[in-house]
Amino acid sequence: MLQPFTREPDYLTKLEDGTVKQLNPFSGTEVWTVAGRGNRPMGIQRPDPMPLDPAQHGRHCPFCEHRYLETPPEKSRVVQHEDGHRETIYRTMAEDLFATTAEFRRVPNLFEILSYPYWHLNYGYELPTRVAERKAAYLGSVAGRQHVLGWPGTS
Ligand SMILES: [Zn+2]
Repeated sequence: MLQPFTREPDYLTKLEDGTVKQLNPFSGTEVWTVAGRGNRPMGIQRPDPMPLDPAQHGRHCPFCEHRYLETPPEKSRVVQHEDGHRETIYRTMAEDLFATTAEFRRVPNLFEILSYPYWHLNYGYELPTRVAERKAAYLGSVAGRQHVLGWPGTS
């Protein structure tokens, strides 16, 4: 009996940004190898656990309140005022990062699996207007520009 012609799927696809998609013809499992994904920190040496040094309070890690510049520009933060009420502050500029102490911060993922270039190069994705405006405003300030350009690996 004749079978209708069906096109075989692409078992190996290379996208514009260098991402390679492989489709296993037997299992149907799809594997994506995203360009640049291997650049994230790997093999970090962890010292033996020790009690936290109180002299380093606020500086223990890149998310602590004295190290705000070690994360990407934040999306929002929650601050607690002296009367106890909490406020969410959005799109804090670099100049204002240390004006308040965040109880909680939302920051972009520095090591996202699928980055903006992936979506832009392969699917034509463009930044939404409000995000493009936020980017321009942040980079338009001296402190914001220094923050972003001073990032490890960007010089
Ligand atoms: Zn910390």
